[in-house]
Amino acid sequence: MYVLHIAFECAPIAKVGGLGDVLGALPKFLRRAGIDAAVLMPRFGDAQVKEEALRLVHEGTLSYRGQQLAYRLWLQAAEVLGFPVYLLEEPVYFGRSGVYQDPATGLDFPDQADRFFVFQRGVLDVLKAGVIAPDLLHLHDHHTALLPVWLREDPIFRELAELPIVFTVHNAEHQGRYDWRVWEEIGVPVAQPEALQHQGQLNALKAGLLWADAVTTVSPGYARELQERDDIAAGLQEVFQQVAPKMRGIRNGIDPDVWNPATDPLIFANYSVDELAGKAKNKAALCRAMGLRFDRPLLVFIGRLMREKGVELLVAGLEQLLMHQLDVSVVVLGTGMPAYQAALEDLRCRIVRPGGFPRLVLRFEFNNTLAHQLYAAGDILLMPSRVEPCGLNQMYAMTYGTVPIVHAVGGLRDTVDPWDPRRQQGTGFRFETFTPRAFLQAIRRALTVYHRPEQWHILQRNGMQQDWSWNRPAQEYLELYRSLVPVTS
Ligand code: ADP
Repeated sequence: MYVLHIAFECAPIAKVGGLGDVLGALPKFLRRAGIDAAVLMPRFGDAQVKEEALRLVHEGTLSYRGQQLAYRLWLQAAEVLGFPVYLLEEPVYFGRSGVYQDPATGLDFPDQADRFFVFQRGVLDVLKAGVIAPDLLHLHDHHTALLPVWLREDPIFRELAELPIVFTVHNAEHQGRYDWRVWEEIGVPVAQPEALQHQGQLNALKAGLLWADAVTTVSPGYARELQERDDIAAGLQEVFQQVAPKMRGIRNGIDPDVWNPATDPLIFANYSVDELAGKAKNKAALCRAMGLRFDRPLLVFIGRLMREKGVELLVAGLEQLLMHQLDVSVVVLGTGMPAYQAALEDLRCRIVRPGGFPRLVLRFEFNNTLAHQLYAAGDILLMPSRVEPCGLNQMYAMTYGTVPIVHAVGGLRDTVDPWDPRRQQGTGFRFETFTPRAFLQAIRRALTVYHRPEQWHILQRNGMQQDWSWNRPAQEYLELYRSLVPVTS
């Protein structure tokens, strides 16, 4: 069986968040489980590819809004990442740096929608030309979600109309909403246009949900929430309920080739569950580099500074904590909304004590090395997400012996078990209500255990001994694919 994943990100070629991590690992694990898998993505100007491993496999022309756009299809050999990656190069829309945003301004590209549509038109052209001949398409997020409509509804693609399609929702907040006239211009007529619309607009996510043969999302908890809570489904709850019979949640995994404290080349000292002393060396090195005190608990936040990540709660919780408690250090690594950066910066200024050590370090950048170092050095990971489809950070943190404090939502509830001191079980701390008070109480509970080192080490070890790898989720995808692909392939 040959599965082609189609997505806008694939780490380390292009990564903005968890989507990139998933695409960078799942195909490798599917291949280890015995099937063929590849990725097809755009070739952005700053794509982290290995030039010497690239081979030109196809040249074509795609049509988009009356333009004839020449494109090239490159293939990066499987040896580089453990699976082949096809890269669609088209200079007008992709010949510049950045995935969704212009790195120079931090703002979305004004022609972002065109980039999504052009990529999909290119994919259609490649499939029609037969350059890649998969048994199943696995599409990721709204950037690729109109493909099933074209494939099923446009007679030009008749010979591909039976190709099974799995559509994975990594984040339902991002739906690809456009003026309906856009579809009239670039799309194909469908019997029930309302099926493509939400609140009168073209809605790419909805199209993917309805037209795909199977829908998955990235944790069982999020799958339930999408069907039960319209706020989490961002207005599409009814559609998620409608597709429930063909939908399931499969939690994301992590790639131990990249995320393993015993082998990670980016951290200061390697360590393992049997030899936790190395973790302290990481903390010492990081604290030295940042001017922080080593003898205080180190709390870290890593992630996009966006509403869904609960940044208001982070700011409010940290304010309470840092105003009243002097003996903690906090590092925040993230990029995102300027207003959140300003609120954090303002807090940092307000808690400065003359002659004191810094207690809040802010790094508003995307820095993969620093992220690895923070997972290794931190004592506690803060993850107060308002919504969390799966979340990878908490799994990385546990793997590195950093104890997560999470809002009990989506994949966070599925992956973090509350610490139970009587039975010495659990992997972290959860809070149920999305309030600064509940968050702060969870931090205080965690700090109490932190100051009882024997208990803390058990808690750390519990987290490090979990198997968050892709082995199990890859098997679940495999079962799904097998249920959709005729047995002959
Ligand atoms: P999401 O996909 O919603 O952003 P996830 O927790 O699923 O959230 O994945 C986030 C990924 O992005 C993790 O690999 C995390 O380490 C990484 N990440 C987020 N922000 C940064 C940053 N500023 N620097 C480095 N890595 C980051």
